[in-house]
Amino acid sequence: MTAPAMNDASAPLLRVTDLVREYTLPRESLFRPPAAVKALQGVSFTIHKGRSLGIVGESGSGKSTLARLVMALDAPTSGSVELEGRNLHTLSTRDLQRARRDFQMVFQDPYGSLDPRQTVARIVSEPLAALSQATRASQREQAAQALESVGLRSSDLDKYPHEFSGGQRQRIAIARALITRPKLIVADEPVSALDVSVQAQVLNLMQDLQQEFGITYMLISHDLAVVNHLCDDVAVMHQGRIVEQGPPEKLFHAAEHPYTQTLLAAVPRAEPRPHLPAADAGLQHLPS
Ligand code: ADP
Ligand code: MG
Repeated sequence: MTAPAMNDASAPLLRVTDLVREYTLPRESLFRPPAAVKALQGVSFTIHKGRSLGIVGESGSGKSTLARLVMALDAPTSGSVELEGRNLHTLSTRDLQRARRDFQMVFQDPYGSLDPRQTVARIVSEPLAALSQATRASQREQAAQALESVGLRSSDLDKYPHEFSGGQRQRIAIARALITRPKLIVADEPVSALDVSVQAQVLNLMQDLQQEFGITYMLISHDLAVVNHLCDDVAVMHQGRIVEQGPPEKLFHAAEHPYTQTLLAAVPRAEPRPHLPAADAGLQHLPS
């Protein structure tokens, strides 16, 4: 659990402390107590400004639950999420709404997460509508700028999601996240639904935006290659806990936790390489 030495003096942008989330399942029988799923069992970490944390782990390990709690879209059973020292889960509704400007989310499915009946202008400016008194014209202008910063055109404003490819839709989703100039973007499997060739373009865009706007990412992926691309630090989740954390180079070459080793061995390759010698399997595809 190493924190970057140079940032030790400054407060973290995001501090997650002992986060627990239990879900109660519907009773199977009147005579049995309702069963509970412990989706998160005490997760703690910090992210400093301008750094990025990758969260990896198999399906069901609690990654999306963690994302929803960090985004204050769901409440924890216990524990806290602090953004610049503000506990998001104890803010008043009004203060939380204001604070939302500082953290935005990009979801996995660029087909499902954009309302097909709304224009790109409406979709991208939606976070502003909830926050500010900006006029329609100003919202449109800001949406145009956000589109341009993700490599789309202002002439795309009046189009609808179905007119775009998967990669372009994810750019639209990123433009929507960017429009409030957030400090933190939580991206839950942002490229998993995209073709491999498009994944790198979207990740490169996210990297460029990090440089340009000083964004901090919490990037969730089941794919170690994806987090390696963008993150300074990687936390490995297993059954609702972080079992190992460190810089990607260290994890990939000297994973200590047996679960991380299993995860590395199971990494799907970015491209089919049918003739890859078995001894090299697993790490070959990682960009160096
Ligand atoms: P991941 O994103 O890593 O696949 P999730 O956070 O979606 O994992 O899920 C973690 C665990 O919590 C799983 O066992 C899942 O079935 C359970 N879970 C998630 N959301 C709910 C919910 N709304 N109700 C009940 N169980 C849930
Ligand atoms: Mg998930």
